[in-house]
Amino acid sequence: MKLPVYLDNSATTPMDPRVLDVMVPYFLQNFGNSSSRSHVYGWTAEEAVGLARDQVADLIGADSAEIIFTSGATESINLAIKGIFDQYSFKGNHIITSVSEHRAVLDCCEWIENNGGFVTYLPVNAEGLIDLAQLESAITDKTILISIMYANNETGTIQPVRRISEVGKKHGILFFSDATQAAGKIPVQVDEDGIDVLSLSAHKLYGPKGVGALYVRRKNPKVAVSAQIHGGGHEKNMRSGTLNIPGIVGFGAACELCNHVLETESTELSILRDNLETELLKLSGSHINGSLKNRLPHITNISFDAVNGEQLLLELCKEVAVSRGSACSSVTTKPSHVLTAMGLDDAAALCSFRISLGRFTTLSEIESSFKIMTEIIEKHRNASKLAATLK
Ligand SMILES: *Cc1c(COP(=O)(O)O)cnc(C)c1O
Repeated sequence: MKLPVYLDNSATTPMDPRVLDVMVPYFLQNFGNSSSRSHVYGWTAEEAVGLARDQVADLIGADSAEIIFTSGATESINLAIKGIFDQYSFKGNHIITSVSEHRAVLDCCEWIENNGGFVTYLPVNAEGLIDLAQLESAITDKTILISIMYANNETGTIQPVRRISEVGKKHGILFFSDATQAAGKIPVQVDEDGIDVLSLSAHKLYGPKGVGALYVRRKNPKVAVSAQIHGGGHEKNMRSGTLNIPGIVGFGAACELCNHVLETESTELSILRDNLETELLKLSGSHINGSLKNRLPHITNISFDAVNGEQLLLELCKEVAVSRGSACSSVTTKPSHVLTAMGLDDAAALCSFRISLGRFTTLSEIESSFKIMTEIIEKHRNASKLAATLK
């Protein structure tokens, strides 16, 4: 068994080796630029991008013409929020989001506020869910966009996406959902879910890093987003720049694989996750954060009372790779904004851990992880008790 056991798949997933196999030829013999129209090198690349576009579209029930390739979910989120803010400025300048969004969404919203827009940040309840009545009452005649993530990257909590889209439709407001954690893990279907714009990323679903996509609805309604990167007019003028062909090819292959195994993989992951949770909950003063009913199959977020979170992570890190909060904020010692929004105090948020499983997590890795974690947490607690009596 390779140590530390990797249980941080929400930060990034390892690539599926089958994805790499499909990518390799596009670095070497098929190195063409998909915009080259005058020779076979270009045509080959263009054909490969076309196939990948179909594969990504298939995963979310979209049409391939609705897929815009980007450098990842962060860029897709920027394109969605800033692009809609610009494009729909004739209608209004108000956006509704929630306090527990990914940093990329929150930072784009801050940019909106600094550029003449207004943002309402909906609170979440103890399970991390927004309230639909609050959503509806936040709508004004200037509201142009509802931006609510599909599922949270720290707790796995799944928002009531279909009901959010109904509220949006009723008021003629566009709905953008950051589905970076949900896509490839649970069924995400843009039509059934009523989503107008959606972001996803290859490296969260066993594809390469540095490539992602934005889904932009083409009918009922036709949505437009203003480009944030200007140049040669690639990607229907919404995102210029030579396409990352090997990355896109890998992204497509990764989506197709996820599409094939989604149902069985999600069941397997939830069994492993539940197994781990049951064992860790045997420790006194431990509890789960987030919704137990509406959540992704591969994530758990657990608090352990009476531990020093930072020190515990250090003690754990040779054996298991887990995190506190998201990868982008775990370098700071600040408590997770997602957990404090759910009502945890700073101290409780700081001793909460996100444990996320993936396609390559095995039962024996889970068994050894909970044994090691239980042991280390007990040792850690005893040591701090001893330290307290010696003071
Ligand atoms: C990882 C993640 C992102 C950022 O994706 P990148 O492709 O790394 O830019 C955005 N939102 C959520 C929910 C994520 O989990």
